[in-house]
Amino acid sequence: MAILIIDDVPVTRKIIKSFLEDGGYTETIQAESAEDAFKLLGLYADSDESHLPDIDLILMDIVLQGVDGIEACRMIKSHQRTSNIPIVILTAYSSSEHIETAFKAGAIDFLPKPVNKLELHARVRSILHFKSEVDRLREREKHLVETTMKLERANVLLERLSNSDGLTGIPNRRYFDYMFKKLMASATRLAIPISLLMMDIDNFKLYNDTYGHLAGDDCLKLISGAIHDTIKRESDFIARYGGEEFAIVLFGVEGNVAANLAENIRDHVFGLKIPHSASTVSDWVTVSIGVVSCVPEPSVSPDNMIDWADKALYTAKSRGKNHVIKFDYPGI
Ligand code: GH3
Ligand code: MG
Ligand code: MG
Repeated sequence: MAILIIDDVPVTRKIIKSFLEDGGYTETIQAESAEDAFKLLGLYADSDESHLPDIDLILMDIVLQGVDGIEACRMIKSHQRTSNIPIVILTAYSSSEHIETAFKAGAIDFLPKPVNKLELHARVRSILHFKSEVDRLREREKHLVETTMKLERANVLLERLSNSDGLTGIPNRRYFDYMFKKLMASATRLAIPISLLMMDIDNFKLYNDTYGHLAGDDCLKLISGAIHDTIKRESDFIARYGGEEFAIVLFGVEGNVAANLAENIRDHVFGLKIPHSASTVSDWVTVSIGVVSCVPEPSVSPDNMIDWADKALYTAKSRGKNHVIKFDYPGI
């Protein structure tokens, strides 16, 4: 925190420095030219920004050798690093034209030369007060923007969390209900087929009883991965429907293709060869899948589809599990 004095006359700099000290402003830096000041302010491309002094205010003579005070003012104001530093121009000419040029170049105020000590103190005091207020507001605004951004990120995360299943990371039942309704409405409007697969792990209670609940959780993750590996289209939708039940919605896919895909999933899960010594079906973990497909009439509701897929799943179970059964929907 310092005041930068830019004047090419050493004795003037000395007087201003001592006036400032008398007013309690002991931190001052002196520059004998605009170029010298630019170096101190880090305005040159090769400057080391880590060692730059913190400048609160610049007092600058308007008449300088080389780059003059007006041009220097423009330069300092045009750099992002220094644009917020207030500049007070010191001038022996108090013609309004001169002062207007200084203001246009970005100066906040001017002081006539020779500088009057009390006037200097009053001006420095009010400008420093003003700057600290502006800095405080800027800091607050920055903080607000950061907080808003954090909040937005948290909301996105919350939205994702509330829509996904904590164990497998795939969409949960809540999101399924929402999405399936939307997909059914689209299929009805566009008069295109839609298929629903309801998949349930066979003898999963026995799996938990045999290998423990944690192994059961791992098994659920493996199986959700297997569905993902089989169903690759962007428009297909997989969700964890319940405990060990998964729902797969195939948008724009008609019955036979859907049944083939279901068969692929069943086969893929079987191919994982997850040991299940207590299973009544096989040595490995198996799944049963009920399939329903239709080009939905407006009278067909999502609940109808779920009901039909469930019926087909029930049939798959009653036929010995590890089966895919397609619900016979009239007209498909
Ligand atoms: P079926 O072949 O007829 O489907 O029999 P099942 O044993 O698979 O079906 P049942 O409905 O009797 O049991 C389902 C089991 O799934 C019981 C429950 O403890 C287990 N389960 C549900 N959710 C989870 C879970 O998140 N983790 C684990 N490890 N087990 C779960
Ligand atoms: Mg079940
Ligand atoms: Mg089951």
